[in-house]
Amino acid sequence: MIILVINSGSSSLKYQVREGDDVLAEGLVERIGEAEVPDHAAALDRVDREVAEALGERTIDAVGHRVVHGGERFSEPVLIDNEITRAIERLNPLAPLHNPAAVTGIRAITEKWPDLPQVAVFDTAFHRTLPERAWRYAVPDELYRKHGIRRYGFHGTSHAYVARGAAELLGTDAFTGVIAHLGNGASVAAVRDGESIDTSMGFTPLEGLVMGTRSGDIDPSILLFLLREGYSEKDLDTLLNRNSGLKGLTGTNDMRSVSESADSGDERAKLAVEVASYRLAKYVGGYHVAVGGAEALVFTAGIGENAADFRAAVVSKLGALGLELDESLNAERSKHARVISTPSSAFPVLVVPTDEEAAIAEATAAVVAGS
Ligand code: AMP
Repeated sequence: MIILVINSGSSSLKYQVREGDDVLAEGLVERIGEAEVPDHAAALDRVDREVAEALGERTIDAVGHRVVHGGERFSEPVLIDNEITRAIERLNPLAPLHNPAAVTGIRAITEKWPDLPQVAVFDTAFHRTLPERAWRYAVPDELYRKHGIRRYGFHGTSHAYVARGAAELLGTDAFTGVIAHLGNGASVAAVRDGESIDTSMGFTPLEGLVMGTRSGDIDPSILLFLLREGYSEKDLDTLLNRNSGLKGLTGTNDMRSVSESADSGDERAKLAVEVASYRLAKYVGGYHVAVGGAEALVFTAGIGENAADFRAAVVSKLGALGLELDESLNAERSKHARVISTPSSAFPVLVVPTDEEAAIAEATAAVVAGS
């Protein structure tokens, strides 16, 4: 089955065409809304031309959309119809930057290829198994009932994919342990018997770990303080979502340059690595308890798969759990799932590469085949 995977942003459209593990085409249309690409329909025309060139006589069988927010309704991928599209649209207030773009992408495809099956794959879905004690904020119930304020969690497609990969590597049926997805956005998930039972991102992707440009956990009173100091809502949004995290601590959100600067003795970079790795180590300790004893700690995504020194900084803080990295295995570069701990480590530390497009394509093929 040939699947077109679409990741719609407000002004960009990323796509990949896959047949099983083979990537037949991929690309990115940017600056949607400007003269050359006035709207998502125009972006899609461009994708259509590029895909047709790559496929020749063959054609796409289905489309899989990455949808950031599935709210409380969606706990698995679904075949899209008008009612589903409207349901995704109703979740726009929960993900104002992301869901409207996905809806626009879905409608543009419905218009262009009305007979092509489309599947929505939600970033929140994997975390629908969180118990209430993990998703509740300790605030009046009205906030939940009126505004849907609760913890949802994100990166679910990646966490689910990596949990399956880790189980395969460990030779178990279902994964129990802790997964650290460390990309520009970062989150950690506590997984028991293959199900997410806690995760560090909350109502939005701002909660939790130190990220490329996001602060992660802070005392909410800081917002109140800054409001009194004259900051606007937009200022606070920009401050915490775009100018904080590694960028706020060092001036750059790129872990490669942070690592290089730290290596050459830059104090701010060294501190940033310490703050970020300490925060993550605390979550790992907590989630080890939450899952009733992890069978493995797994690193994934850009930083998790590539930044050996950052992994070492995290694991060095987990001595109390009996974790021990094998320095040469940790330093090895590879695209494959692998163990990077010593045989005497209390439980293995793994690197399992993520592939969200592959996961979306697999889910899409499964939904279409089953419909
Ligand atoms: P992602 O969002 O998964 O693409 O991850 C992006 C992050 O991974 C950025 O902070 C990059 O600096 C980081 N990254 C990618 N490659 C490396 C590398 N070789 N060493 C350190 N960090 C890396």
